[in-house]
Amino acid sequence: MMVIDFHTHCYPQKVVAKALSAVQGRLKPATDGTRDGLIASMHEAGIDYSLALALVTNPANSLGVNRWAAEQNHAPVFFTGSLHPDDPMPETTLDFIAKSGLKGIKLHPEYQQFEFREERLFLLWERCCELGLFVVTHAGYDIMFQPPWHTDPERLAAFHRRFPELQLVLAHLGSMTLWDDVEKYLLGLPVYFDLAFVTPDYIEPERLVRIIRRHGAERILFGTDSPWCDQKKQLEFIRSLPLTPQEQELIFWKNAAKLLDLPLSTPQALRRRA
Ligand SMILES: [Zn+2]
Repeated sequence: MMVIDFHTHCYPQKVVAKALSAVQGRLKPATDGTRDGLIASMHEAGIDYSLALALVTNPANSLGVNRWAAEQNHAPVFFTGSLHPDDPMPETTLDFIAKSGLKGIKLHPEYQQFEFREERLFLLWERCCELGLFVVTHAGYDIMFQPPWHTDPERLAAFHRRFPELQLVLAHLGSMTLWDDVEKYLLGLPVYFDLAFVTPDYIEPERLVRIIRRHGAERILFGTDSPWCDQKKQLEFIRSLPLTPQEQELIFWKNAAKLLDLPLSTPQALRRRA
């Protein structure tokens, strides 16, 4: 079965050492942090395609990060763009991202210090809807930060209700570690959850399967968070869950292919295009 990893990271050669050393002592990278390193990990794990999530952490780097993402956006590693909430020209950035053929943007409310309820940003979410860009956001606990978090399931549900047209992907099963509130506020809403970093260290498999079933496999995306989580191990874990072949197809590639606008018919069609 084809596998698309919807949540990975890799970095340009010039910043890769810095990106890896920033998390030292908390996370052990499973690749060397480069695009080639990610591809090597995919081969080892049996993953056909990955989506690398770019992130602008300093508004001054917005154009550079998005240009790099656009250049690197080809099989087997596709990219999102990224928007910083303090970007002085956010509309220009979003237009650039859409015109470059990137299908979505990544946001991280902890690194980027913002909340979805901030009205100053509402125009930008409307612009994403107009351009057809999906929004992937980090959600919940992050090992590099301390609570209180800038997102939680209740506020994410309210954000979805305010912008129902926006295609929202909530990383880490809706909100990392905040599973009670994920079940209370988010289950069944038409928003995607990815499975990045959702490992047996953080959730019991029975609970994970319950959340997947109640939310609906048509809105769950396989993801790892490589290099911060090992692709092969995470794939083995998700494969070990008692899911039906139909659920697996949706989670491992069909939902991702739809969001990334890749041909849905057969894996071969996708390979040809790639
Ligand atoms: Zn991540």
